[in-house]
Amino acid sequence: MICCDLPPPPFHLYPFAMNPFEIETDAATGVTPAARDAALRSERESHKLEKRLCRQVGQAIIDYNMIEEGDKVMVCVSGGKDSYGLLDILLKLQARAPIHFELVAVNLDQKQPGFPDHILPDYLKQLGVPFHIETQDTYSIVKRVVPEGKTMCSLCSRLRRGILYRVADELGVTKIALGHHRDDMLQTFFLNMFFAGKLKAMPAKLVSDDGDHMIIRPLAYVAEKDLERWAQHKAFPIIPCSLCGSQENLQRKQIGNMLRDWEKQYPGRTETMLTSLQNVVPSHLMDPRQHDFRSLKTTGVASADGDKAFDAEDFPVPTLTPMPFAATPGARKIHIALSPT
Ligand code: SF4
Repeated sequence: MICCDLPPPPFHLYPFAMNPFEIETDAATGVTPAARDAALRSERESHKLEKRLCRQVGQAIIDYNMIEEGDKVMVCVSGGKDSYGLLDILLKLQARAPIHFELVAVNLDQKQPGFPDHILPDYLKQLGVPFHIETQDTYSIVKRVVPEGKTMCSLCSRLRRGILYRVADELGVTKIALGHHRDDMLQTFFLNMFFAGKLKAMPAKLVSDDGDHMIIRPLAYVAEKDLERWAQHKAFPIIPCSLCGSQENLQRKQIGNMLRDWEKQYPGRTETMLTSLQNVVPSHLMDPRQHDFRSLKTTGVASADGDKAFDAEDFPVPTLTPMPFAATPGARKIHIALSPT
């Protein structure tokens, strides 16, 4: 997609020879030089974004040994921006990878009212990727079983998981790829910390709860906003995710807002938090199951990584991006009376 809607550049950016009030228009196309420049800029940005997405997904695949020679990867596609992006980037990497692996896109049509069941088959056919649409009316089951007003998501996702594992067996796949991204992982980390008292995020690679399937999350390093921009650029035919009428998970939404506010105030914080999940120091946490505190003995050997027990730790001072007062979460106006000295 080429965006031609950008405003023209400021006056001082025009070359001297060009008078912006006498912009020439290409007689054949009707395109002005400013519009052409904007389109070129937009193309360059999209190219950079594509490179970044491929690099980050490729890196996650290498770091966690997600895909190996001869793998058959089932890519779960829901019709949302994340899973479209996942499939798109995996297809690009498949074309360039030095190893051979197969991809098969799988969508589960849960028979939610109004689900446009032609969109995904049409898109996947046009893409030329092998695919399978599994139709199972879990919507009616969930509606029947879950009392009105209660959240349906946990039963719905349990049913979906079972069906997808069965489909994976029938298709003979060796890996199941899900479209969770960096921000999903961090949200899960904070949800577990705040509401379950656990330091636990979403793993980039794991064995399924039934012990039979290998689940991978190749978007583990990818920012949600990059997937949004990529979906716009590629004009993916997005299927709305609110068809089931279920309430959005309020806690996840709040944590998402908290992370976005932090990122606005302290650019780069999200990336640092993700890095911290890869830099765990169990000896400096408090879980005796992860570190044997009880039988700890002195070693007489200095540790470069060790705690300076009595010293305060030094951290870089964060650069604060000022937020408008009204946009600061929980901001309240207070009046301070200063007494004359
Ligand atoms: S939002 Fe709807 S489709 Fe998604 S898990 Fe919840 S009930 Fe199921």
